[in-house]
Amino acid sequence: MQECIFCKIVRREIPADVVYEDDDILAFKDINPVAPVHILLIPKKHVATFFDIAAEDQPVFGKIQAVAAQVAKEQGLEEKGFRLVANCLEGAGQVVFHIHYHLVGGRELTWPPG
Ligand code: AMP
Ligand code: ZN
Repeated sequence: MQECIFCKIVRREIPADVVYEDDDILAFKDINPVAPVHILLIPKKHVATFFDIAAEDQPVFGKIQAVAAQVAKEQGLEEKGFRLVANCLEGAGQVVFHIHYHLVGGRELTWPPG
């Protein structure tokens, strides 16, 4: 049984504010938001990092981007836009080792990030 916190959210063993779900993908509000809109999109299947993506998993990672756009629209970000970012390994700030994309918006976003 996966001890991963995001797998537990997928199995509804710990609560989350889910905004989108299908057979492959779950999207829920980040518990510690850095912007008015901060949603995490994850594959339901446990994949720790981008380096662990198997060939058969690839379609889900394409679909996540389309789902992100749909969720962003529902969150009112269609005009101003949003950022979709994923951290890979500790050096990039990855804390939870189940691939997740941060969908961030609702305020001015600077580039490059810190
Ligand atoms: P990262 O640093 O890219 O691994 O991001 C992990 C993100 O997961 C952080 O933004 C956390 O606030 C978020 N997070 C951790 N635990 C939970 C949880 N139980 N529910 C929602 N978001 C969480
Ligand atoms: Zn997991």
